[in-house]
Amino acid sequence: MNTLDQFIAGCMSNYDPDALPVDDARRIAAGYVVPLAGVERVPLTAALDRVLAEDIVSPINVPAHDNAAMDGYAVRAADLAVPPAASSGASAPITLRDIGTALAGHPYAGAVGRGECVRVMTGAVMPAGADTVVIQETCRTVAQADGTSTVLVAKPPARGENVRLAGEDLARGRAVLTTGCRLRPAQLGLIASLGTGEVSVRRRPRVAFFSTGDELASIGEPLAAGQIYDSNRYTLHGMLTRAGVEPIDLGVVRDDPASLRATLQSAAAQADAIITTGGVSVGEADHIRALMADLGEVAFWKIAMRPGRPMAFGRIADAAFFGLPGNPVAVMVTFYQFVQPALARIAGQSAANLPPPLRVPSRETLRKRPGRTEYQRGILSRDADGQTRASLTGQQGSGVLRSMAEADCFIVLEHERGDVAAGDLVTVQPFEGLQ
Ligand code: AMP
Ligand code: MG
Repeated sequence: MNTLDQFIAGCMSNYDPDALPVDDARRIAAGYVVPLAGVERVPLTAALDRVLAEDIVSPINVPAHDNAAMDGYAVRAADLAVPPAASSGASAPITLRDIGTALAGHPYAGAVGRGECVRVMTGAVMPAGADTVVIQETCRTVAQADGTSTVLVAKPPARGENVRLAGEDLARGRAVLTTGCRLRPAQLGLIASLGTGEVSVRRRPRVAFFSTGDELASIGEPLAAGQIYDSNRYTLHGMLTRAGVEPIDLGVVRDDPASLRATLQSAAAQADAIITTGGVSVGEADHIRALMADLGEVAFWKIAMRPGRPMAFGRIADAAFFGLPGNPVAVMVTFYQFVQPALARIAGQSAANLPPPLRVPSRETLRKRPGRTEYQRGILSRDADGQTRASLTGQQGSGVLRSMAEADCFIVLEHERGDVAAGDLVTVQPFEGLQ
């Protein structure tokens, strides 16, 4: 028994490579691959979408000082409770003396004493003695004959209101981000707010890929009888780039054992993972099986899914290997369901970062056979009632790439599920995330 077979046996008790549930295949693939060890230091501007290779601990308080959250007057809360003018009645406004101004980046040098206030703009450091900001909309300023002004507070706020405390965003010594986090725009800004300009990130995985098939022509070649243009290498190039890995395009390889062997060996020598498309369906797989067994360890699966039933998985030398089906839609579905999570693990990303699916009502009736997971191509749109619903993009054949191009989500119909009635909730995986 080779190590792949042992690993699979350890993952599940009733393993059937000819009817493998999607979740088990995903678990095996992501569990079998290993994270890369390499780390590099990069400036923040080059760190977008990279995977953090260190824990980031805040060396400072953010914000560094208590500061005003609104435009208004910095006051002592004690002065708001008891009006300083002894003669005031119950409903009389509180009167404070305006002694100066603090702007963001320009603090007030003195302190706020009893019955005093300082004009503050948002972001200004709170002057000494003041603990509360009265927003300007609830005050009235009255100019005095001696050139000073008095502030009348109509609606006193509670103590501490409209003040951002030092360390409120991040306290010094606090763990801010942990290793394995993929850096998105918010994380870049968060690291910058600590005054840190460089981070340690994992090396980007190198992923070699090629298409197999005697019928494939490359762009620029005329189409001979029975030929089609190779589209899979272009969707793969796009998906790999989006996944944050370094793509290595090895072109089209004929269905010929000698060429396949040479290309697989070259791929394994230069890449951390290898992706092929085509050649794993029942009729074609036989001569590849022997080849793979010789070069590494590969399991041939029929996954209980649609589209994308046949798939091969394992390793060639030290590179993870994904043998995807040839059909263009099946390539995309199997990439997103199996390859992308495994690449995230190879890249060192912690699994917690993967986005959760949505549940929305289906706009129409969907036909579905229990016993396999289906990835139908859908479009999300919002109705006048404010509810987002999913509809199909039309023809759903696994070779119809147009269905992917028109879609903005997968409608995932789970293994046990049967037909879906209009209005039933369905699981949806949107193609695009905000960050
Ligand atoms: P296979 O898995 O090799 O049997 O291929 C299944 C179907 O996908 C066949 O109709 C192929 O012609 C088609 N196909 C395979 N590879 C590609 C490719 N690189 N680009 C477009 N279509 C392909
Ligand atoms: Mg083929």
